Amino acid sequence: MHNFLPKAYFEGKFIDFKEANLSIATHALHYGTAAFGGVRGVVNKETKDRVYIFRLDKHAKRLSNSAKILNYELDQQLIKKTIIEFVKHNKSENDFYIRPLVYISSLGIAPRLHNTEKDFLIYGLELGNYLSPDGVKVCISSWQRPSDNFSPSRGKLTGNYINSSLAKTEAINRGFDEALMLNSNGYISEATGMNIFMLKDNKLITPGLEQDILEGITRESIIQIATEELGIEVVERPIAKSELIIADEVFLSGTAAKVAPVYQVENYNLSKHKPIATKLQSILGEIFEGKSKKYKDWITEIMY
Ligand code: PMP
Repeated sequence: MHNFLPKAYFEGKFIDFKEANLSIATHALHYGTAAFGGVRGVVNKETKDRVYIFRLDKHAKRLSNSAKILNYELDQQLIKKTIIEFVKHNKSENDFYIRPLVYISSLGIAPRLHNTEKDFLIYGLELGNYLSPDGVKVCISSWQRPSDNFSPSRGKLTGNYINSSLAKTEAINRGFDEALMLNSNGYISEATGMNIFMLKDNKLITPGLEQDILEGITRESIIQIATEELGIEVVERPIAKSELIIADEVFLSGTAAKVAPVYQVENYNLSKHKPIATKLQSILGEIFEGKSKKYKDWITEIMY
């Protein structure tokens, strides 16, 4: 069971999390007509009086874009401001995860976007490691990552996450920690809630935005850090399944997972030596904790 933060933002007000409840007839529940964000709050361990939020502008912009796909104009500055207020209302002393959600709040039937009411809510929960930072075993899912013409891959639409849920449970039932999904062209797309990178001949390779991936904010940050800090060339291109087996390193990236090295793909063991993933874990760790001078502008510091 999760430790939910005590206050939620619901129907325009900050109220107790336990009081923030929706009707069973809510459109979003029936048709997947919602979109969410996922943002980490890292508390200053010494003072416990402030929190560091990684790339809040990017998260607010992506959620505003997802809302737009749902025919909902929600200003990114309003999202940002409300998330900051949410953090101040909760004053969590432990690291947490913020979950903003935009959704069709109308009651009743008829799958559509037009002529519906929309709303915006936020709740949060304490969150440590989502995947083991020491490494994970991944399978290749029998479920395919939906193509953008089936459902917009670059929006974090809740309806899309039936795909991630099917793939994750299949992976766990088969004894793996995570699933990689191929896209409709048969190339590696991403995991159930993380993007993927592999290191090959000293180049970092990751599927491009045309491979039906979610445009991950951690992914984008890693591309910049690898180029600027580690001096590694980053190539965005399709990745074939067999390339992973012979890669020098494979790792997953995401807000919840941070950087999670992969040590097994299906029945193939990969090297346990992961120097680049380890370096990225430590550089990102410093940034998340508000300790990096160079990437200071990626962090929003909120005083309680
Ligand atoms: N892919 C999917 C399907 C996701 O849900 C997430 C998590 N938001 C990611 C990738 C990673 O994105 P980010 O780095 O922005 O958290």
